[in-house]
Amino acid sequence: MSPAAVSGPPPVPTSFTGLYFQLLAPLLAVTALWSTSLYMHPNYLIVLPLCLPLLVGLAYPWIPPRLEWSVRLALTGLHLLLLAALNLWQFWLPQAHVGNRSAFAILLLAGPITSLAWSFLFVDHPRVGQGLTLLLAGLSSLLVGQWARPTGNEPGLAVIMLLICLVGALFGQQAIRLQRQARRSAHDAQRDPLTGLFNRRAFDQAVRQTVQGGTLALLDLDHFKAINDHHGHMAGDRVLRGVADVLLDHLPAGGSAYRWGGEEFALLLPGLFPPEAEDLLDSVRQEVQVRSFAGGAHVTLSAGLGQYTVPEQLPGIFSEVDAALLAAKRAGRNRVMHVVPALT
Ligand code: GH3
Ligand code: MG
Ligand code: MG
Repeated sequence: MSPAAVSGPPPVPTSFTGLYFQLLAPLLAVTALWSTSLYMHPNYLIVLPLCLPLLVGLAYPWIPPRLEWSVRLALTGLHLLLLAALNLWQFWLPQAHVGNRSAFAILLLAGPITSLAWSFLFVDHPRVGQGLTLLLAGLSSLLVGQWARPTGNEPGLAVIMLLICLVGALFGQQAIRLQRQARRSAHDAQRDPLTGLFNRRAFDQAVRQTVQGGTLALLDLDHFKAINDHHGHMAGDRVLRGVADVLLDHLPAGGSAYRWGGEEFALLLPGLFPPEAEDLLDSVRQEVQVRSFAGGAHVTLSAGLGQYTVPEQLPGIFSEVDAALLAAKRAGRNRVMHVVPALT
């Protein structure tokens, strides 16, 4: 775990894409095939592209992630192309043959639900999603307008279609906004606002969820009060942020860094054991010692560390690591001390 930023669009959950590729797109293709077969002889120009969503739906579990974006664009593009082709074709057709009631009903339902679905499908590329949804709303409304022509008694239907599609897209946007807010709140609840590191709540959670043995380290800046006294609290804050950066720079894969309290930090290093863990802590200590923080402040740190071979030992080892940290302070600070193994 590392404090990844939550700014920028979130990735599309696979549940969205799965729902679209495996359920909605094939369903729309089947209903379109069924409705066209009601009023025209099989026309392979239309039938073949309509089979594509069915094939993609079947093949979806095997589509490699790197192709997923292209498939998304291809399928939505095909949807729009078919709508545009249908619009053109209907335009040239004698009025008596334009549309039928089932095709009409399907289009009225499919337009709004597709515009809602596309808002979710392009949550990671909102501009692309908005553009495609507008095109969809426009082409669907045009088609409804053409199909309403022969009866002549539903002049406002195209406008209503347009509005419902846009409202569908708006609902999608609002749902995405809520999802973003929830994501940000969940992120903030786990972070320390000053350093961006994980906070104590996240530490407690990680301790409960850890599944692998490794090393726990507690670090405390030496004589930090003096930094505040000589350089001011703002400079002290900048030192805390600088130390957090050093910790993040040294984190191995799978490791996580926490601001435990004021000038105290914790590292959870699953899969890392002494002597590698001690080496890592010592290089953090040396880097902090030589670094000149903003305002010319210099600081050192003391650390205690202990290992746990099974996750259940982790809560128990905490006080021992704290005692090792205290021993490092008593021994003169600016050092790393390991938990003394119990004599059996
Ligand atoms: P020791 O080597 O024994 O750890 O000495 P110390 O001065 O680091 O420890 P002490 O506990 O006496 O003081 C810790 C100081 O850390 C006091 C407090 O003002 C400062 N501090 C805690 N949180 C923050 C913070 O968020 N910003 C700043 N600037 N200072 C902080
Ligand atoms: Mg302290
Ligand atoms: Mg201190």
